[in-house]
Amino acid sequence: MTPMRTPAIRIGSAEIIALPDATGPFFSPRAEAFPDATAEQWAAADRLDPGAVDADGRWLLQFRAFAIRAEQGLTVVDAGIGPADSPAASWAPVPGLLPQSLAAAGIDPDEVDTVVLTHLHTDHIGWAVVNGHNKYGETPRPDPHPYFPNAEYLLQRRELEAIDSLNPQLRGSLVEPLEATGQLRLLDGDTPLRTGRVVATPGHTPGHQSVLVEDGRDLAVVTGDLLVHAVQLLHPELAYAHEVDPEEARRSRERMLDVEAGSVLRLATPHLTEPFTSP
Ligand SMILES: [Zn+2]
Repeated sequence: MTPMRTPAIRIGSAEIIALPDATGPFFSPRAEAFPDATAEQWAAADRLDPGAVDADGRWLLQFRAFAIRAEQGLTVVDAGIGPADSPAASWAPVPGLLPQSLAAAGIDPDEVDTVVLTHLHTDHIGWAVVNGHNKYGETPRPDPHPYFPNAEYLLQRRELEAIDSLNPQLRGSLVEPLEATGQLRLLDGDTPLRTGRVVATPGHTPGHQSVLVEDGRDLAVVTGDLLVHAVQLLHPELAYAHEVDPEEARRSRERMLDVEAGSVLRLATPHLTEPFTSP
């Protein structure tokens, strides 16, 4: 197997590392996903992110997680599409390669102290709790168990309260195993982390959250699905059909992309072709 690339950026003394999990086509035509986008807007988005469209005009997505490594600790943001039997298996190109990406970045799942779950969509929680896999994604271990055995998993309380409308099956496959080991911590809005902080960015889902890392005027946002395609980077006002509350999502997106003059903002996104981009 070819060694995986785990690109990284630095914000002060913290390193933000991209952890590729998979690549695959979106499950419906992209014009349905962004019904208001014009031909000109698509053309501009395709110039900005040519890797996100295939020869047949289908939307090609990356699925990735991120690690934030600093002296204070090691955080993972999101958990990809997961192994072959994950909840995303019905539509995403499982198995993902997150275990190999972590190894390539020199990260042992045992040393991760915090996992931020941006939201409860299946392509973001895949490796959070696993059934038949050890930390290398190999040797079967039958009981559902947290893939990061020593981490606190952070989820917005508002997101958990919406689980029945988002995906009720995740109660048994994700929430209960994390509660059983005492590893689930519910947050109420913005919350400081050892490195950076969680920012509530609702709209895509009711309790969606992102992670902000800053050092002076150097800022990075690990976005989650605050934006999912370059067309929203160019036009943050564009609604995405799979947002639970498009108006709230737009406000969250515009608020996070709007930084003071003189500040440099970088975005770490799960689904764009390049892991790091600037608005
Ligand atoms: Zn997603």
